[in-house]
Amino acid sequence: MRDQAKVVIIGGGIVGVSLLYALAREGWKDVVLVEKGELTSGSTWHAAGIVPVLTPSLGVAHIYWHSIKTYRQSHHDPEIDFNGWRASGGARLAVTERELQWCRHVASMGASVGFDIGMVSREEVEQMHPHANVTDALGAVYSPHCCSVDPAMACHMMAKRARLEGAEISLRNRVIGLTQTSGDEWLVETEKGTIRAQHVVNSAGCYAKKIARMAGTDIPLVSLKHQYFVTDELAELDASGPELPILRDSIVGGYYRQEQKSMLIGPWEFDNIDAAWGGAAPQWGSENELFTDDLQRIEHYVLKSMERLPFIANAGVKTVVNGAIPFTPDGNPLMGPAYGLRNFWHCCGSNIGIAQGPGMGHFMAQQMIYGDAEINMLEFDPRRFGTYATEDYAFKKAVDVYSHYARPAMHGESRPAGRPARVTPIYREQQKRGAIFMEAHGWERPRWFSLDGRTEDYSYHHNNIFDVVGNECRAVRERVGIMDISSFSKFEVSGVDAAAFMDRVCANKLPASPGRIGLTQILNESGRVFSEMTITRLTEYAFYLISGALAEVRDQAYLARHRGDMDVTIKNLSSDMGALVIAGPRSRDLLAHLTLADLTNASFKWLTMQEIDVAGIPVRALRVNYVGELGWELHVAMDRLADLYAAVLEAGAAYSVADFGAYAMNSLRLEKAYHGWGHELTNELNLIQAGMERFVDTSKSFIGLDATLKAQQDACDSRIVYCEVDIDDADALGGESCRVGEKVIGLITSGGYGHCVGKALAFAWVENDYAHPGAQFDVDILGRDQRATVLAGPAYDALNEAVKI
Ligand SMILES: Cc1cc2nc3c(=O)[nH]c(=O)nc-3n(C[C@H](O)[C@H](O)[C@H](O)COP(=O)(O)OP(=O)(O)OC[C@H]3O[C@@H](n4cnc5c(N)ncnc54)[C@H](O)[C@@H]3O)c2cc1C
Repeated sequence: MRDQAKVVIIGGGIVGVSLLYALAREGWKDVVLVEKGELTSGSTWHAAGIVPVLTPSLGVAHIYWHSIKTYRQSHHDPEIDFNGWRASGGARLAVTERELQWCRHVASMGASVGFDIGMVSREEVEQMHPHANVTDALGAVYSPHCCSVDPAMACHMMAKRARLEGAEISLRNRVIGLTQTSGDEWLVETEKGTIRAQHVVNSAGCYAKKIARMAGTDIPLVSLKHQYFVTDELAELDASGPELPILRDSIVGGYYRQEQKSMLIGPWEFDNIDAAWGGAAPQWGSENELFTDDLQRIEHYVLKSMERLPFIANAGVKTVVNGAIPFTPDGNPLMGPAYGLRNFWHCCGSNIGIAQGPGMGHFMAQQMIYGDAEINMLEFDPRRFGTYATEDYAFKKAVDVYSHYARPAMHGESRPAGRPARVTPIYREQQKRGAIFMEAHGWERPRWFSLDGRTEDYSYHHNNIFDVVGNECRAVRERVGIMDISSFSKFEVSGVDAAAFMDRVCANKLPASPGRIGLTQILNESGRVFSEMTITRLTEYAFYLISGALAEVRDQAYLARHRGDMDVTIKNLSSDMGALVIAGPRSRDLLAHLTLADLTNASFKWLTMQEIDVAGIPVRALRVNYVGELGWELHVAMDRLADLYAAVLEAGAAYSVADFGAYAMNSLRLEKAYHGWGHELTNELNLIQAGMERFVDTSKSFIGLDATLKAQQDACDSRIVYCEVDIDDADALGGESCRVGEKVIGLITSGGYGHCVGKALAFAWVENDYAHPGAQFDVDILGRDQRATVLAGPAYDALNEAVKI
């Protein structure tokens, strides 16, 4: 075994091996994978091998699709000799109207990723799967690309490919220690010697938490038990012909696939979910480990599966497999840099790793080598979690994800497991006022206010809170609204070099004088968007930064990484500072009751900040907001937030001040054509493509400048556009495919209803030919083509007058 390598990967399951191959193929040949047992001896060997493609997550769909292409190509590659691929196709049954909506949304989204997918009728399912009883199905989403692979063969195939590319695998060799040198290298201590590596990747499956801790960090990861059973052989099945399509439903809550002449059935139980190893991490000695069969736990589902597949009713059970799966709190894998460590990466936490492995490896390798992947990595970044994601939180969330695996989540659904993790001091008060919360980086953020006790009837169509949200929007546009935005991330950057540092970090010019506010994106070296911040200059040497809630850990890491030896202090104030936005044409009148400060436009202009007293409470008042109205963000010490809220409500009664939430904010920002970080501003796009060129100052040096200049010169082939969609009972929400005729020309990045302009609005990422005002294309919304027209400017207040009055 070599003693030096560019990268050491820990773990020889499907994920680690896939990354090994992807790195070597992309040109990092000096890579070693270290595995304590044999390849596949963790969770990989016992998997059911299903590779689906039906998911409501765009990023996950990209990952699946890459895996499927890899398996399919390998099967057809004579040099690789991979016989473990079964092209069966797969369908997800819809047994309720809601599930039908979900299926239609998934079909539209899959088309935007580029694979064959579509809705099929019950009769078509019956033709494809004559043994299934699908009389309860209203339809299904189907893709011919869904397939299955033999997990062990798949893993060995990827290992063979990696070795052919020059990568090395060291088996029966446990990593026993990890130490970072002062030069940012890693000393990877193994049973067979120490390897000095530039990068280390944690792909240790259920052991990944142990490895993280070995390196001095932590991840929210738990292992849960999952079982499938295989029936005895069935006379009705032909092992030599084409396989039956894989079926999924929410009744058994699982999957049914043909395994030779048997059926393999795996239920995702709705309750009684069991932690593997009693909730602890596996012992190092664990290898090819299975747990005792627990058919009693899944008895109900076994009986239900007989209703779905009556022909198995008399078949015995040949095999039961009860194994461990790593789970994260949101069910997505962890792919990206570890917080607080240099050159240490996680690529783990996949609970469907056979399907995700090759795709994870591919996009992770892109990120490691080029600094960015082609897909939006935000939903996979390990730093999307913070210290709030304790073991207890991770476990509750993971169990919740598991129990809903087979039950499609509707748009907007926000389940209570593990919550609340982070609350502001007005959480209870807002609850009393009807707040219905969503979770944002652990924080409880009001999403809408139920004034009459109604609960949301989740739907992809306009639903029973459509008018409620509309009223919140109108309150902001016509009177004054108040929202708790304390969940946003907040930092203070100060020191002698603060201005030079921030100038280097920000793509836009810095606010020049104390009290000025500016909006800026911060970029990766590749020129693509890493984050977006509102920056207030406090003094010559200090800045106040506000960014998205999900950005907290990532932004802190970015700032720390780029600080170098500059004289700069970075303080994370996210939990110390609360913030209320008070916006609307009467916001000035309302605040005038509470402060002696001169709020007139002449004295307090748009994009300026003043430190003032409101109701006797010192606040940083920022005349800025994300809803496009006259208004202020009041940033205040968290322990005074409740007093401030109470005072604003009291004074606001005269103006019928209304609470509003994130749904309304989204509607209002769409009307103003404000881009959304994580949607229109992602690591997939540079600022030229994103249509944010006016926020770039190329006369100065900043991170990503060279790539931005290059992007300015090169003709980009696709751009973000803002459009109106001709639909009245639903909206484009994000991920839907945009088409001209049969050709997919782009996708929706975010959308919703503009309640005050009475229009369905969306941002779309489309081919250049359609990136001009007046261009038209169709958006597949819930199975119907809806005409979208590119707009020249914001649907509301195009001249930007409301914010400046
Ligand atoms: C019953 C069941 C059915 C499943 N069905 C499917 C399915 O149909 N489709 C699907 O996609 N997924 C399925 N899965 C999930 C799938 O098995 C996992 O998601 C996947 O195997 C995870 O792969 P991995 O590479 O992350 O982890 P692992 O395969 O566990 O690999 C991690 C490796 O790291 C090694 N390691 C740990 N610590 C060290 C150390 N200190 N030094 C060296 N090496 C170390 C371990 O030995 C192990 O080999 C199923 C799981 C179960 C239990």
